Amino acid sequence: MATVTVIGSGAAGLTAALAARLTGASATVYERYEHVGGTTALSGGNAWLPAHHQLDDDTPEAALTYLRALALGDADDDGLRAFAHGARATAEWVERETSLELAPLAYPDYHAEFAGGRPQGGRTLEPQPYRPSPRAARLVRDAPNVTAPITYAELAGGAIDRELLRERQAAGIVTMGRALVAGLLDACLAAGVVVETGRRVRTLPDEGAVVLATGGFERNPQLARAFLRGPVRAPVGAGGAEGDGLRMAMGAGAQLGCMSEAWWCPAISIPGEMLDGGAMYRLILTERARPGSLIVDTAGRRFVDEAQNYNDLGRTMLNFEATSYSLPHARAWLVFDGAYRKRYRVGPLGRRDPDPPWLDRADELGTLAERIGVPPTALESTVEVFNAHAENGEDPDFGRGSFPYDRFMGDLGPLGDGPYYALALHPGCLGTKGGPRTDVDGRVLAAADGAPIPRLHAAGNAAASPFGLGYPGAGATLGQALFQGLRAGTQAAGG
Ligand SMILES: Cc1cc2nc3c(=O)[nH]c(=O)nc-3n(C[C@H](O)[C@H](O)[C@H](O)COP(=O)(O)OP(=O)(O)OC[C@H]3O[C@@H](n4cnc5c(N)ncnc54)[C@H](O)[C@@H]3O)c2cc1C
Repeated sequence: MATVTVIGSGAAGLTAALAARLTGASATVYERYEHVGGTTALSGGNAWLPAHHQLDDDTPEAALTYLRALALGDADDDGLRAFAHGARATAEWVERETSLELAPLAYPDYHAEFAGGRPQGGRTLEPQPYRPSPRAARLVRDAPNVTAPITYAELAGGAIDRELLRERQAAGIVTMGRALVAGLLDACLAAGVVVETGRRVRTLPDEGAVVLATGGFERNPQLARAFLRGPVRAPVGAGGAEGDGLRMAMGAGAQLGCMSEAWWCPAISIPGEMLDGGAMYRLILTERARPGSLIVDTAGRRFVDEAQNYNDLGRTMLNFEATSYSLPHARAWLVFDGAYRKRYRVGPLGRRDPDPPWLDRADELGTLAERIGVPPTALESTVEVFNAHAENGEDPDFGRGSFPYDRFMGDLGPLGDGPYYALALHPGCLGTKGGPRTDVDGRVLAAADGAPIPRLHAAGNAAASPFGLGYPGAGATLGQALFQGLRAGTQAAGG
């Protein structure tokens, strides 16, 4: 019987282990922490799997056209083609081989306006609320960033049934990323996969096939500095993303790909919040798209369509400006008015909570600007110009509100009366995209000759993403992790 060692227990690792076991190999998953799930358990759990079996009006060809448009010619076309054509089988496999149910979300693609994009959404599949077995419940990691067992569909619907959430909590039912991890883990345990926690693997085993599924390298300062195109000040994912898989792959002579890219995002930091022994950062999502708000940089200027997807926005925060020889947007603020503060949640802050010290506040825009170190006249004039256009529902500077994704996330509206607030935004990422290049079956390719390195496979954020700089839609990273995990695990088992 073939032996498969899987290093890492996120979506990629658990999928690879289950696939290997179901193909007939013995499979062991090693996880460095006492609990399994990694960044996947902190996530929304959504997977972008175009042309899946629950969508009858989508095709792999449309998805491929879209993926190619996003990649701007800088991606692995074989990888894009394999994903577009294999996404459906991945979604079917998850529903067939685990007890998870997946339901489509009406999330528009991040660039639905591109050829092949879907303004009506549906390519994103969300795991439905899931009750783990007692063993899985003990093994799956916590998600301190998630306050209640709610689904994305429920959040998007707006009406939150608190009684239902209490019932779920009492019954041990989990949602989002923890549901995905628990469902995959239960299937692994039932199939006879061995799960070893508290075991950090840093050298490749001498025998059997290996799947590297250790996540990204954003938490390793040396690797991040060496490879990424800008400073990731706010890594949002779990602590284990230190690039152990990348280092093992480099040691084995792997070819690398997509190394300067990450799944970028703007993030906030709440003093005192900790994750895995380090500072915790929170992704900032719908807050950016609400009326009565805009984002400015250190010069007090807008620099972006605030409502656009977090990857493109996070990437823009790291743009180099030659004239000033600086990264002028790497410090930015979400500025909003008093009505916004009363109406919307901001990160973990409820509408009726008292103003916390991490939120700057002033009655006048000029005073707020001084408080955050931005030229007051610049902020005042930015708001004046923004408001004049927003009152007509327009943003000639950055097109906010003119794209399907923007309109799904929020609405364009001027800033009204004070008090005014400023929330500091940091350039961050959900994970990195670079790693050993693989073929479409997850075999790691050698730098020397491009041939598969015997016994070595990689999946998820530990592997080079085929998407290049693109982030096609909600769930693209997990869609890729599931797809690659399934391919790599099957191949590693000799299937
Ligand atoms: C708040 C948030 C929301 C998100 N929402 C979504 C979403 O809805 N959809 C989506 O597609 N993406 C989402 N993402 C991104 C997504 O979660 C990650 O890209 C994805 O989980 C990566 O999966 P993975 O299996 O590659 O890595 P991980 O889930 O990070 O798993 C890697 C595991 O390997 C372990 N490990 C590392 N080194 C070793 C070692 N040497 N030995 C043993 N174990 C090791 C780690 O501890 C970790 O448990 C979100 C991320 C965050 C932070």
